[in-house]
Parts: sequence; C-alpha cells; structure tokens
Amino acid sequence: MLRIGLTGGIGAGKSTVSSTFSELGGIVVDGDVIAREVVEPGTEGLAALVEAFGSEILLPDGALNRPALAAVAFPDDEKRATLNGIMHPLVGKRRAELIEAAPADAVIVEDIPLLVESQMAPLFPLVIVVDADEEVRLRRLIEHRGFSEADARARIAAQATEEQRRAVADVWLDNSGTAADLVAAAKALWHDRIAPFAHNVETSTPARAVPRLVPADSTWPDQARRIVNRLRTACGHRATRVDHIGSTAVPGLDAKDVVDVQVTVASLDVADELADALMAAGYPKVDGQTDDVAHSDDVASWQKRLYASADPGRPTNVHLRVDGWPNQRFALLFRDWLVANADERAGYLALKRAVAAEEHETTGDYAEAKEPWLVDAYRRAWEWADATGWQP
Ligand code: ADP
Repeated sequence: MLRIGLTGGIGAGKSTVSSTFSELGGIVVDGDVIAREVVEPGTEGLAALVEAFGSEILLPDGALNRPALAAVAFPDDEKRATLNGIMHPLVGKRRAELIEAAPADAVIVEDIPLLVESQMAPLFPLVIVVDADEEVRLRRLIEHRGFSEADARARIAAQATEEQRRAVADVWLDNSGTAADLVAAAKALWHDRIAPFAHNVETSTPARAVPRLVPADSTWPDQARRIVNRLRTACGHRATRVDHIGSTAVPGLDAKDVVDVQVTVASLDVADELADALMAAGYPKVDGQTDDVAHSDDVASWQKRLYASADPGRPTNVHLRVDGWPNQRFALLFRDWLVANADERAGYLALKRAVAAEEHETTGDYAEAKEPWLVDAYRRAWEWADATGWQP
C-alpha cells in the first residue's frame, strides 16, 4: 500500500487531480467528504452534536443544518473546541477504517486541504501539491464555486504561503493552464511515478538508480530536507540523529542522482526494529550490510543496515549506522571535510569522473574503483578533523 498526500491552496485544482487518480484506480480518502459522512442522519456523530449543541442545529428532516451549527460553534472558542473534539476522532477513525480496508496493492490518495498547515507532510511517502497563481484561484473560486471576492481572498490569506507549500512538495503540479493540461500531467505522474512506486512498495523493491554522474543539482539539499523530515517522523525516538550525507550533501559536487541519508541508531538491533516503519515510509531493505571501505581490521564496527527508496522519482539510500562507530562518524566527517576543502573536493571529483568513464556495470564496481583513493582520504580527513577539532 502506498499513501500519497495531496494538497494545494483553495481553488488550486485538487479535485481535478483526485478524480483523475480515482479513475486510474487510486482510493481517494477526502477529509471533507468524511466529515460529512460521519454526521449523516442516524450516525453517532450527529447524535453527539445534538447532545452538545441542541436540536436547533437540525433541519426539519433531521439532517444537520450546517449554517446553524457554524453560527453557534464558530464564534465561541470553547464551543469550537467541543465541535472539534467530536469531529476529529470520528473523522480519524473513519479515515483509518477506509485505509485498513484497502487492498495491499492500493494507492491511497489522501486529499488534505490543510496538509501543510497541520504539518502532516512527513507522514506521507509522497506529497503532491497542486498550485495556481492566487489571482487565477480567486477568479475560479468566484466564477465556478460561487464565492464572493472578499470571502475567497480571506480563505486564501488564511492558508499556507506558496513558499511553505514548495518546502514540502515532492511533486509540484502547476494548474495555470487548462483543466485538460492538469489531467494530462496527473496521468503522466501516475504512470511514470506513482504506479511503479506502489508496485515497488508492494514487492519491497528499491527503485533502480542509474549509476551515472550528473552535474550538481542545487535542489538536492531541499529534496534531502524533506527526506530527512520523513525519516525522523518514521523512526521517532529510535533515531539518534538523521543527516544528509554523501556527495549530494556537498554543494557544487557532481554526483550520481542518489540522495544519501544516514540514520544514526543506538545499535544494529534498533536498526532492525525500524524495518516496518521504514517500509511504510517507502524504504524497503537492501542487501549489503557492511561498508566496503577496508580501513579497519575491525569489520564488526563497519556494519550497517541499508534501505533504499522505492520511489523511482527520487532514488535515495538510507544508511542505518550505530552511534559512535567509525563508519557512522566517517560519513559525517567525509561530508564536512569535502565541504571545507576545495582541493580535496576537486580531487574527489576528478576521481569520480575517471571512475565513471570506465563504465562500471554495477554500483558495487563503481564503489570498488574509488576504494584506493578513499583509503588515503580516510587518513587525510581524520588528520583534518584532529587539526580543526571537528566534531560530528
Ligand atoms: P480545490 O479542490 O483545490 O479547492 P477545485 O478543484 O475545486 O479546487 O478547483 C476550483 C475551481 O476551478 C473548480 O470549479 C474547478 O472546476 C475549476 N478549475 C480547476 N482547474 C481549472 C483550470 N485549469 N481551468 C479552469 N478552471 C479550473
């Protein structure tokens, strides 16, 4: 099962995207729809509302009179809290039921208007934001959804900013063109990324990454920040720290387009306890439990656990290493040493280019070819650490 978070400012076009995903087989879980469902006539939700606010919130036919409820509950903080206290658990329970009932290969599309505002982004393996300029959204809300201009402006102003949305968006769907353009973009996204991602999750298969050097991408740190937040949330207190490491963490350095993240844990047992949480976050386990760098006779302390993203749109390796072990410390040192030393960075880049030119069949061969340089770099990096008082 793959859970996707879908959001966007009011009037951006989320509904178009969620109905496209639904047609393609996604199971849409829509907070607004659930919120209506749980207070339909005959539900415990409606009974609880009547108990709290009286029967004047009902229409003559016994259904909920929404404007009447809004009029009593919204202006008063305490009453609003009562309303939320009734609604939130019911909506949460129903949402969980819908997700639970979905088959193992399902793609659950959670349509959450306030995903950014309620800081839920790290809970999803993939966050999709639909966006259009404010003026375009305003016009659509007025023309198609019957909002007054003042009301539409107030709704937009109360929501997250574009910058806040960009910070959590793994995918940004621009809806400033026609609705047909948006549908086409949503379909392409489904076929190219979401469907293979879901298949990889179902089969616990990491997405394949092309072992090819690409020019440094200035968005790597932002992409990594989202991954780090997601992993922090997935691992909770079991992670001592989570860091962006490797070449993509060194600004200006060409690299394979694979983000490396290190999750520091207290022991390998803790690393193994995290398998289910990492799988749910979109990171199946990979073989290869020892760092190849042969700088130490003490092989035990070069052990790790490796996970990798199932998302074909964002190849990522997640290295779980034990706090204080040499491989855990070296990953952090290597990054900081390269960032601080332009000459070493240039030397490493030259090596990477030379190795890449040799056309290695597998990532393993590629890593092996860098080995002799790395052994000496290990010594030089630690000399630098001693000289500068570097600490992880
Ligand atoms: P949201 O669900 O994000 O609040 P909607 O999907 O309801 O926004 O879109 C707002 C309104 O604009 C809807 O009436 C929708 O039909 C219309 N709309 C969406 N995308 C476009 C588009 N590209 N061109 C014109 N109208 C659009």
